[in-house]
Amino acid sequence: MRLILLGPPGAGKGTQAQRLVQKYAIVQLSTGEMLRAAVAAETPIGLQAKDIMANGSLVPDEIVVGIISDRLDQPDMKNGFILDGFPRTVPQAEALDELLKKKHIKLDAVVELRVNESALLSRVETRVAEMRARGEDVRIDDTPEVLSKRLASYRALTEPLIHYYSERRKLLTVDGMMTIEHVTREINRILGAIGAVDEAKAAKKTAKNTAKKASGKVSAAAGKPAKKGAKVAKKATVAAKTASKGPKKGSKKTSAKATPKAAKKATRQATKGSKGRAAAKGTKVAKKVTKKRAKA
Ligand code: AMP
Repeated sequence: MRLILLGPPGAGKGTQAQRLVQKYAIVQLSTGEMLRAAVAAETPIGLQAKDIMANGSLVPDEIVVGIISDRLDQPDMKNGFILDGFPRTVPQAEALDELLKKKHIKLDAVVELRVNESALLSRVETRVAEMRARGEDVRIDDTPEVLSKRLASYRALTEPLIHYYSERRKLLTVDGMMTIEHVTREINRILGAIGAVDEAKAAKKTAKNTAKKASGKVSAAAGKPAKKGAKVAKKATVAAKTASKGPKKGSKKTSAKATPKAAKKATRQATKGSKGRAAAKGTKVAKKVTKKRAKA
């Protein structure tokens, strides 16, 4: 599942993002959090962003786009992600579209949390009080003065994204004035309605199986992952067979696939996948061919 959470400061994006992370085993990408970490670590980006963040302005687009681009390349992104606090401007949204296109990633939806502005100040005050009670450092931009600047920036620069994503048929709006529980339920309901949840559940299942396998608990996996393993194994067998025959003359597609490298790759995939019989068979055939080719 790949989502964007949209809403003004204090709308509850962080809270809802954490809940979605738990439910669907996806990763939260909060540019605010990443920038705060960079400030704390005094990295070059942090040093650049520090004062800008303290007065409630926006960090330059190229910095945040760069951070997100690097992060999307990390292996933990494969189950999906929630972007929280990014994009914040139309140019950032356009840059994100480009990035996703280049990386062959499909965005499922943009969830807008709609709230009354009058409620935001008291929400942020509550957040500050809770953080103090937990003994946590309070954000320096969570003051009434800076908040009103952040709100103005949201209205001027971020709100146009509602139109941007609505035009692209990605926008789902949720009433963010309900209780946290209700908002969560509503988000899950609408994600279910667009079919994003099934995909996320399947991804979570795969993640669980991978974790189990890593701890040596998995025996013969059944159900969907097994089917997937068998499919990959079949691919391995075909690739191996093709490799053993050698490339077909004049066929670009075949010659690209029919290499010992392709067989090896398919073998690796098959070994990674289910431990079903088909997978084992595919692995064996592919291994044999790889060895043969290596000898030759
Ligand atoms: P947040 O935690 O999302 O409220 O972000 C805190 C601060 O980090 C913002 O007020 C900005 O100064 C900066 N920031 C976070 N995300 C972005 C972004 N996408 N573009 C520009 N600045 C950002």
